[in-house]
Amino acid sequence: MLLLNVPPPDEIFQLNKEFLVDSRVNKINGGIGVFLDNLGNPYVLPAVQKAIKFLTFSNFNYLPISGEPLFLEESAKLVFGSPHFLEYKEYIAKQAVVGGTNGLYIWGSAITDLEPAPKIIIGNPSWENHWNIFTRVGFQIIRYNHIDNDKKFNYERLKKVLLQHPKTYVLFHGGSTHNPSGINPSQNQWVQLKNILKITKNKVLFDFAYMGLGDSIQIDRFPITLFLKAKIPLSVIISYSKNMTLYQHRVGAILTVCSSKNEKEMKEKYFTNVFRIVNSNPPAFGEHIAKTILLSHYLKEEWIHNMKTMVRNLHQRRNVFARYAGRKFEHVTREKGLYSLLDIGKDQVLTLRKHYGIYLLLNGRINFGGISLPDIQKVAKSIREQS
Ligand code: PMP
Repeated sequence: MLLLNVPPPDEIFQLNKEFLVDSRVNKINGGIGVFLDNLGNPYVLPAVQKAIKFLTFSNFNYLPISGEPLFLEESAKLVFGSPHFLEYKEYIAKQAVVGGTNGLYIWGSAITDLEPAPKIIIGNPSWENHWNIFTRVGFQIIRYNHIDNDKKFNYERLKKVLLQHPKTYVLFHGGSTHNPSGINPSQNQWVQLKNILKITKNKVLFDFAYMGLGDSIQIDRFPITLFLKAKIPLSVIISYSKNMTLYQHRVGAILTVCSSKNEKEMKEKYFTNVFRIVNSNPPAFGEHIAKTILLSHYLKEEWIHNMKTMVRNLHQRRNVFARYAGRKFEHVTREKGLYSLLDIGKDQVLTLRKHYGIYLLLNGRINFGGISLPDIQKVAKSIREQS
């Protein structure tokens, strides 16, 4: 057997494995993208814990291949807002998926079935799996530098790329969060992008893996409703892994806004066909939890409140980090969501791991969600000591 092209292990899960076998009691995991409470305990949202109590387990029969219809409808209301959902509902193709990763894979595979040699513009850096997925399903990837020299979103660069590659797909990280940088366009830049996209006729894919964890549901969906109203061709992949702490239950949906009812039906057939081949049928437990929360006024309010607490904790952790790490790292207070990229070299990341038991990704990505408030101080001081 030829072993030339053995794929490398996934960095994040490999790092987690190393973390778990590290016997040091004071070890700190800033790698894998999960959220712990301020004291560092595993966190399952109170709204999710309550929703589970409402579930009945009288049968475990298969769901429809496209997913639980009410789950899909509520997801579309959430992503587009109820008034827009009502206006566009007959044009929105929907498919439940096994988390955001599977959503990207199913969406990408369906597009390559429908279109010859599709291209997609993706910023650099981006979540590593974006390259893996879109390369595997046969897209040509066009890259641009996502971050400018002032550690802001590189609007000018993207504008140039859009003008050079009209009519192709462009991937955005939904809302106000970005993995790994925490840097996404400002509201003003989204508006300018909308104007450019109207001219270039690019089609947009929002990978919405952190809805509600940047600012709020309304603010995070701002670019989506903006593009929808401007009639820019739009697909959204929502994942509930992070915003409902359902990581292992693999819940998400593809929502594609089509220009006709025929197109909607056709797209749904393609999504369902690929989904049937890859997954056969969606896992139901998480879909039922999400549906129960989204359909209940009381649980939805609680969920929104839970997310506000997470967002507040993230801000707090970012502020504490910047206070103790020094001026060089002040940018993290402007960034949103779980992650930021720290300007530290690979050697420093490895020293932090070896001598301090602090685990970060090699590119300097830190997950503020996974580090308790007291540990944030320790991480910041250790980085300062080394700088
Ligand atoms: N997109 C981005 C940008 C992500 O960060 C993640 C999770 N790390 C995903 C998609 C996929 O999330 P999941 O498959 O766990 O729902």
